[in-house]
Order: sequence, then C-alpha cells, then structure tokens
Amino acid sequence: MPQLILIDIFIFFFGAVVGSFLNVCIYRLPRRESVVFPPSRCTGCDSRIRWYDNVPIISYLALRGRCRTCGASISLQYPVVELINGLLTFFLFLKFGLSPTFGILFLFCSALVVITFIDLEHQIIPDVISLPGILIGFVASFFLPWLGWQASLIGIAAGGGSLLLVAYGYELVAKKEGMGGGDIKLLAMMGAFLGWRAVLFILFASSLIGSIVGITLMLAQKKDSKLAIPFGPFLASGAILYIFFGRQIITWYLSLGAR
Ligand SMILES: [Zn+2]
Repeated sequence: MPQLILIDIFIFFFGAVVGSFLNVCIYRLPRRESVVFPPSRCTGCDSRIRWYDNVPIISYLALRGRCRTCGASISLQYPVVELINGLLTFFLFLKFGLSPTFGILFLFCSALVVITFIDLEHQIIPDVISLPGILIGFVASFFLPWLGWQASLIGIAAGGGSLLLVAYGYELVAKKEGMGGGDIKLLAMMGAFLGWRAVLFILFASSLIGSIVGITLMLAQKKDSKLAIPFGPFLASGAILYIFFGRQIITWYLSLGAR
C-alpha cells in the first residue's frame, strides 16, 4: 500500500515537472522565443533561476511567490499550471494505468494546458501546437484500439469542418469574423486524438460551459457586455470532460430520452 502511494506521488510530481516546462512554453511561444534555450530567468532582474528554486509548486511556496534575488513577485499562474498538470497526469494514470492511452492523452492534455493559458492571455491558439497536433493525433490513433484511424480521420474532418461551417455562416450573417481560425484547427486536433464522437460532445459541452460562463461574467460586469472571451479554454474543458466522464454523461443523456 505505501508503495502505491509512492507511485501516485511520483506520477503527480512528474506531471508537475512537465507543467513547469509548459509554463516556459506558455510564456515563450507567443513571443516566438525558443522553448529550450536559454534556461529560465527571472523576468524582473534577469538572474538565472537555480534548480532548487525551480521545483514545481514547492519552490513557489518556499519563496512566498517572490524572486530570491530581486524580490519581484512571481505570477501565481506558474504553480497553478504545475498543479493542474500534476492533477491531470495523476487522474489519467488512475483511469488508464501505465498504457499507450495514458502516454498519448498525457501529451494531448499537456498541449491543452498550454493552449488554454496562451489563449486566455493573448486570444490566439498557436498553429505550432495545433497543426502538428492533428498529425500526431492521427498517428497515435493507430496505437489506440478504442479509437482506430478511421474515427480519428473522420474526427479531423468533423472538427475542422463543423467550426468552419459555423464561422462561415456567422460571417455571412454578421458580415464580420466571429470564430477564430485557431479554434477550427484546435477542434480538428481534438478530433484526431479522440475521434468524431468526441467532436460532437465537445461542441455541445463547450457551448454550454461557454454560455454559462459568458452570462455569469456579463451579469457580474453589468455594463461592459462586449467582453471578448476566447473560446479555446471552453473547447479544452469540453475535451477533458469527455476524457474523464464522456461515456457516463452520454449514457445519462440518452437515458433521459428513453424515459
Ligand atoms: Zn528577480
């Protein structure tokens, strides 16, 4: 039993360490900087961050969120991303064990974390993640017996096609661009990794979550109802919901109709 707990802690910590790298990607990709070089530096005083100040979550707590050299405050986003990725990795491990599915969905979820935080800050979804993601997802489908390459291929077409149609329709009616091209490529990537059934689920779930959050924000802000909310984080939430609870939610939803 203690051995099992040690493995759980190790898996969580592994996810958090990768989360630490994801933080580098989130900061550097939109600035078109290399994610491997140079090593991490404080954005305040440019001093190099030592390995013992770069331990996920723990270093942030130990330093009370401040740079050891200059005392500049470190964004809370760093430990939050590490925590989220650690938890996602842990729950993927609980659900799938050490399997090809675990490895592939671990890659996929890590990409979603990067995309979510970049989209929240910059309102863009980098092609440098979504386009290779479509290809990697398709190749990965050959190793996922529950998916299969046919469902992956249809997923790419359904993901890209459905949002392309929505965007085109919106432009025809509103005479301006609504849905970003980044969302279209992201949903195509999700289709590649999870298949076309997931695309339907994600479209439905993300619209629902997006509406709830949008209405809540509008009510809270009252006057400024034109607040631009990026759609990528809702698509990502829908995809993660599908991975962990998709089957249960679909079964429950179908049982409503059978009554
Ligand atoms: Zn500093």
